[in-house]
Amino acid sequence: MPASTVKIPHHNPLRLLNAEPNWKNELSDCVTSIDELLKKLDLCPTQINISHQTATQFALKVPQSFIARMEKGSPNDPLLKQVLPMAEELASPIGYSQDPLDETDHNPAPGIIHKYRHRLLLIVSPACAINCRYCFRRHFPYLENRQSKSQWSKTLDYISNNKDINEVIFSGGDPLAVNDNFLGWLTAQIANIQHIKRLRIHTRLPVVIPSRIDRQFLQWATSTRLRPIVVLHINHANEINTELKHATQLLVDAGLKVLNQTVLLKGINDDANTLANLSERLFECNITPYYLHLLDPVQGASHFDVDRNTALKIYRQLQAIVPGFLLPKLAQEIPGEPSKTLIN
Ligand SMILES: *Cc1c(COP(=O)(O)O)cnc(C)c1O
Ligand code: SF4
Repeated sequence: MPASTVKIPHHNPLRLLNAEPNWKNELSDCVTSIDELLKKLDLCPTQINISHQTATQFALKVPQSFIARMEKGSPNDPLLKQVLPMAEELASPIGYSQDPLDETDHNPAPGIIHKYRHRLLLIVSPACAINCRYCFRRHFPYLENRQSKSQWSKTLDYISNNKDINEVIFSGGDPLAVNDNFLGWLTAQIANIQHIKRLRIHTRLPVVIPSRIDRQFLQWATSTRLRPIVVLHINHANEINTELKHATQLLVDAGLKVLNQTVLLKGINDDANTLANLSERLFECNITPYYLHLLDPVQGASHFDVDRNTALKIYRQLQAIVPGFLLPKLAQEIPGEPSKTLIN
């Protein structure tokens, strides 16, 4: 019997290690139609104030695995709300822009965002496995930042020539949307630059498609001197299912540090108990809470905003529930500052 027909139980971590890489299939199998998504959830379009217009500006995209974690018949499901194009996105209050973080001003070479002195972001992939409605990069000119392997030499030269940089952060889009051969190649090039001490991977892909953490990924990630730090992006405890727990276990067992960042989102996670539940679930998965971000004022996301005072109130309540090591740092990105700004 060929190995691929051997039935390994769904929740067996061996499945993640031994199966052919199937994350690519899951990636191409994402739901991109509002009607299809609502149908899967037994919801009727008239129940919800959806907007097909906003979906033409920033497409609906959500993996089946993530949909399976949503509650059927619940228009207010906290996972659904992160992906469903809503009419509220058409509002454009003052102060909300297409580039709220001034990233295009810090784009010294294609694929690079260099804002903070010792660390630099690499836009490794323009694509994501999921389109989050609140995303601050929803208007980023990714096409101008697309590049071939040969063009990466300019990017690598920039890193080599800037000896102040000691950490490279794979970002996007989602860096894990590209294949492991390329990631392994890029990592080897960066590891050749002596002043780089650390590699960080900012990704949501293993959250929404846990099979992304497979043998090919672990192979390059564990064979570099840079020992990647994986920073996941999980906003709600309901996002953590058994498969994600197994995937993070693989990362931890491989010796990688796993952190999480969350965006504080109105109607999704803007209360202390919800955030405390998330921290507890992260702890069960060996993931350390890192940042709790205030929303960046990007056009189309104003209905998710939690104002600073409310955020602080929620944060103090959270601090009274969880131990200090499960308390993320409440942070905001203010353009022009040398780092993220901590709020307390
Ligand atoms: C958030 C961010 C970083 C990383 O900041 P840390 O505080 O080290 O996590 C680096 N560069 C840019 C442009 C960022 O937005
Ligand atoms: S960059 Fe992150 S937050 Fe933005 S759409 Fe992609 S996965 Fe979501």
